[in-house]
Amino acid sequence: MRLLAALTLLLASASVHAAAPAPADAGSIQRVRADVEFLASDGLEGRDTGSRGYAIAADYVASQFRAIGLEPAGEKGGWFQQVPFRRASFARPPVMSIVIGGQRVSLEQGKDVSLRPSVTDKVLRQDAGFVFVGYGLKDGRYRFDDYRGLNLKGKIAVALEGTPAGLPSEIEAHLNASKAIMAAEAGAVGFIEIPRKSGPNGFRRAGRPLIDWVDSSGRAGSTPPGLKLRLGLSDELAARLFEGAPRSLAAIRSDAKAGGKAGPRGFALRPTLSVDAETKWEDFTSPEVVGMLKGSDPRLAAEHVVLMGHLDHLGMKPDAKPGEDAVYNGALDNAAGVATMLEAARLFAAQPVRPKRSVLFIANTGEERGLLGADYYASHPTVPASSIVGLVDLDMPLLLYPFTDVTAFGAEHSTVGTIVAQAGASMGISVSPDPMPEEAIFTRSDHYQFVRRGVPAVLLMTGHANGGKDIWNGWLSKIYHSPKDDLSQEINWDAGARYAQLNYRIARAMADAPVRPMWLQGDYFGDLFDPKGPRAPAQPAP
Ligand SMILES: [Zn+2]
Repeated sequence: MRLLAALTLLLASASVHAAAPAPADAGSIQRVRADVEFLASDGLEGRDTGSRGYAIAADYVASQFRAIGLEPAGEKGGWFQQVPFRRASFARPPVMSIVIGGQRVSLEQGKDVSLRPSVTDKVLRQDAGFVFVGYGLKDGRYRFDDYRGLNLKGKIAVALEGTPAGLPSEIEAHLNASKAIMAAEAGAVGFIEIPRKSGPNGFRRAGRPLIDWVDSSGRAGSTPPGLKLRLGLSDELAARLFEGAPRSLAAIRSDAKAGGKAGPRGFALRPTLSVDAETKWEDFTSPEVVGMLKGSDPRLAAEHVVLMGHLDHLGMKPDAKPGEDAVYNGALDNAAGVATMLEAARLFAAQPVRPKRSVLFIANTGEERGLLGADYYASHPTVPASSIVGLVDLDMPLLLYPFTDVTAFGAEHSTVGTIVAQAGASMGISVSPDPMPEEAIFTRSDHYQFVRRGVPAVLLMTGHANGGKDIWNGWLSKIYHSPKDDLSQEINWDAGARYAQLNYRIARAMADAPVRPMWLQGDYFGDLFDPKGPRAPAQPAP
């Protein structure tokens, strides 16, 4: 799971009381345990994207895919799809200045501004003016068009953080995540987001290398075409940007604080920025691991159902003191997801009849660095993009208690939700609503990269019933993304085997259903990303 915003969560409790779940198959328990123990071992050094430890983990997954009887479905007939990553950092401190009120003021990286190194432009020599664009949103459903009447050609878009009040949390998160793309589409060469509240800007990331994928045509994952400058401003400089403008930043902020369904109107700003920066690049690869179980139905086998989980984690702690545990083992985040995916593949392979549709099993790289491996695969799939009909992402199942419910983030958008509910019911496992909507988890894990390409998808996690709520809260505040997410935790291996069984049943139901998963009628994400696809009634019969 990519970094969560708030680690102390006040959660609505799911009021589900189930009997103790039936014990899982003994062999399955041992196989899940064996895979987690290997993938989370110190020897793999935290499986950082591009590291030797990750490469060993990827070899292991490929070897298990072979043993299970899957077919290689990566590039060139192999198990891997090598993702071309680039690490960018500045070759020298960038030279920047701004003209405000006719005076040129030089700017210091990390103090006045935080300029991001570029993975697409080695040399950045740019003079550009600024345009305030309100919240910087463009959206048909909600009739947002903050760029209307503004000329962004060659300009830097300056957006206020956030969205108008009252949006569903997942749509709000999607819009927040799409602002730079919207700025680029409007013709901007740069994008700045200004915090809603006045305060010190940490610039903790200033000067840190940036990792992204860059494909053979020069297209990058998180750099929209044409957008050369991504930067943050100190609070003082942000306020000065509005000198001589129709409204001050303080006035705009105070209106935003009052709320309302309309955002602030945009206008051109007077200052101009000058940037002279040079980046250096280090290119490397790290693989997606892809295996396929071919479907048995002559017609439906051309369609693919995807079960996936991220194999990478955070690597080694660079500033560890002697004797300190320096390995981010990522036992639950996400060796547990990959291990249960492997066991689900074994359960498929053990059945006398293969599924009707083909099933793809993918171990993703680069998740912790920004959902990068899944993004690359989704935009460069090794099967026809239109053949991917539904997806389940397994990220961070907390296998620490006998779970009796699961949360399927995204379940309310498509028929995948119904499929998950039915598969769960067959094992006495219920599906609970998102217990932490403010975290917008739907847009924060790998499955979102497929949602953006129109694929109905859910992210599955163990739920909050049967003691899960307290365990989740404790784990998120003490263990998450720390070296303590290791094998010293009291992992409930029985829960691991049951989770694998559940994932098998979900993927099997998707693969065997007479119709492919569908977005629900009128769903925001379906209408936005798959406007011409088939639809299911919004209120399926109970
Ligand atoms: Zn994580």
